[in-house]
Amino acid sequence: MSDIPAIALPDHLIPADGRFGSGPSKVDTAALDALAATGSGFMGTSHRQETVRSMVGIIRLGLTELYGLDDGYEVVLGVGGATAFWDCASFGLIQRRSQHLVFGEFSSKFAAVTTAAPHLDDADVIVAEPGTHPQPRPTADVDAYAFTHNETSTGVTMPIIRPDGEGLVLVDATSAAGAIDVDPAQFDVYYFSPQKAFGSEGGLWVALCSAAAIERIGSIGASGRWMPAFLSLPLAVANSQLNQTYNTPALATLFLLARQVERMLDAGGLAWGIDRSQRSSSTIYRWAEASDYAQAFVTDPAMRSPTVVTIDLDPSVSADTVEAVLRANGIVDTFGYRKLGRNQLRLSCFPNIDPDDVATLTAAIDHVVAKL
Ligand SMILES: *Cc1c(COP(=O)(O)O)cnc(C)c1O
Repeated sequence: MSDIPAIALPDHLIPADGRFGSGPSKVDTAALDALAATGSGFMGTSHRQETVRSMVGIIRLGLTELYGLDDGYEVVLGVGGATAFWDCASFGLIQRRSQHLVFGEFSSKFAAVTTAAPHLDDADVIVAEPGTHPQPRPTADVDAYAFTHNETSTGVTMPIIRPDGEGLVLVDATSAAGAIDVDPAQFDVYYFSPQKAFGSEGGLWVALCSAAAIERIGSIGASGRWMPAFLSLPLAVANSQLNQTYNTPALATLFLLARQVERMLDAGGLAWGIDRSQRSSSTIYRWAEASDYAQAFVTDPAMRSPTVVTIDLDPSVSADTVEAVLRANGIVDTFGYRKLGRNQLRLSCFPNIDPDDVATLTAAIDHVVAKL
């Protein structure tokens, strides 16, 4: 845009770190320094040797501790991110038919994957208006329920509660893991990409799998169903048990994720991440409540995400212009989700983001809007 109003924010309205994107999200710069400090000792070494495998070991053990997983749970990793995991699940976790709660872009993409899969029955898709979430409908012929703990496109969170019956509970936790509480007894697979709430890099998926999920993976694998090796969960489980991935992972992603898991454990565990996100997001929701031009897009407070906050602006204030002015001042990635098509800012409150920076951000937005 060439017509960005020239508004320079005063120093005290510029957050110490200007990254508020919902993914990739703010990576701790101390972790980047630590990665650089490994010099010739880590990057560019074999992922089949102990240097890298010990990093995977830290991730697997650390997540087991962070989530208090009982014996029988496995932390499984693979290359390709949550998007690849949807395909993995369609081949390796869904027996015949899945039910999907669709309430935004990411949940709808997984539903599209299973609906298109020729080896599965058409998915049972329950859709809710953007800004809300649907309720599951326990159904006898559904063998897997696809939930999304936090819909990153709309800023809606849903509680993870196991429906009655036999179906596995598969939870996309990409923008929730590390920042929103969950009871492992309520899920069978809790999977995520690490470049959001975990503040790492993309290209990897991580799945916390219950014994029932591991059993399902084994039985479908043994049934002879064709699956591409890259998307094979039996191969992923076998490699993860050796602290490896089936094909070459991005080593920087592993390093940054391991650092973040250790950082969270040192700081008090999941409670630390939950508290940081809660503090940041409540600052924004309170600010919007008091504002005469901004309001929370999600009207039901129980559905409001603590990690990705969506704020509608009055039509007299262009969110695109506000975003561009903020960007010109070093505050980046506050745009709303394009396909939602609203006059909206989307502000991430992941644990790595400093709650003080979030408070500064709201004051900066007020300053920009007053000057427009
Ligand atoms: C970002 C995101 C994804 C996709 O993650 P990729 O790493 O790009 O595959 C899936 N689900 C949710 C909820 C997300 O926020």
